[in-house]
Amino acid sequence: MFTHRIHNFNAGPAAIPLPVLKKAQEEFLNFAGTGMSVMEMSHRSKEFEAVLARAIDAVKTTLGVPDDYAIILVQGGASMQFSMVPMNLGIAGKKIDLIQTGAWTQKAYKEAKKHYEVNIVASTESENFMRLPTQAEYKLTPDAAYVHMCENNTIFGTEYNWLPDTKGVPLVSDMSSNIASRVIDVSKYGLIFAGAQKNLGPSGVTLVIVRKDLAERADKNLPSMMQYRTYIAENSLYNTPPTFGIYMLALTLEHIQETGGLKATEARNIAKADTLYGAIDGSNGFYRCPVHKADRSRMNVNYRIYKGDKADEELEKKFVKEAEAAGFAGLKGHRSVGGLRASIYNAVDQNSINELVKFMQDFARKNG
Ligand SMILES: *Cc1c(COP(=O)(O)O)cnc(C)c1O
Repeated sequence: MFTHRIHNFNAGPAAIPLPVLKKAQEEFLNFAGTGMSVMEMSHRSKEFEAVLARAIDAVKTTLGVPDDYAIILVQGGASMQFSMVPMNLGIAGKKIDLIQTGAWTQKAYKEAKKHYEVNIVASTESENFMRLPTQAEYKLTPDAAYVHMCENNTIFGTEYNWLPDTKGVPLVSDMSSNIASRVIDVSKYGLIFAGAQKNLGPSGVTLVIVRKDLAERADKNLPSMMQYRTYIAENSLYNTPPTFGIYMLALTLEHIQETGGLKATEARNIAKADTLYGAIDGSNGFYRCPVHKADRSRMNVNYRIYKGDKADEELEKKFVKEAEAAGFAGLKGHRSVGGLRASIYNAVDQNSINELVKFMQDFARKNG
């Protein structure tokens, strides 16, 4: 039992900035003088339409989305995009290219190959996905329908700090776990998608940014709810959207703007990641990060505890248990990788990192 807010290192759903939660709390019972919660009003009311407009506008200004891109909000999570992207952007007789970097691209591969031939451009599966394939390793299909990538591999802890050169083929990026954490150039992408529950708010909303001409590729006989053009034509109001999630997404992005935008956010994230990786690398081998240095994620920091030259699962279990009791949540690694993982999204502040480092140093002293 905690009577205060703890240090939240959950991988997703994850921490939401405290000022956002407080604002939502303040407006919870009576939104904008309507005498209702935002959850209790028609999605076609002028008050909700204003919320939706705020959300779209905040995405556009924060991420710098050019005018030839549509910004839409859908349901079904990032996982539904693994189907929706090939359904809409696939082209009969053409291959889809995919860069295999972990569990999320494996899932995207599984769905895409139900309808199309998928070429794996490069894969680091044989190295446990502990690094990202380089451009030199790519075997691109010259006329592929698109190239699929995952820009931050939440489970394995790798993140691109460069963008693949797809030789003119549209690039589709799963940015679920690093959206709005760094400055990006949207014009370099064909489509970006991201579930909201890591950096943009609660689960239930998925952001899709798609170049408008690409959304026109889809067969008009696809289910209406599976076509990007339906959401574009109806401004994400074809059916009842996840209204509360959209409201939270608007507040979260407005909070990013109020705290200096993406540039300042990125600088904070670099400092946080440097602090934590610095503590791991400076622990005389007690903590070790298995991820290739150049590909280390700023959002999901994977590490292990070593006894001699072997990772010690018992000690890791002890670490998680003691950390939880001390008010550090979510540090257990993903079940498919083991070890430890600290997810340090935008809403996790430098103070939480500093406190975690102190805890880690103390634990190493007692157990090293
Ligand atoms: C969390 C995550 C997903 C899955 O999101 P859902 O909303 O659960 O479908 C997909 N890709 C990445 C990179 C993720 O981090």
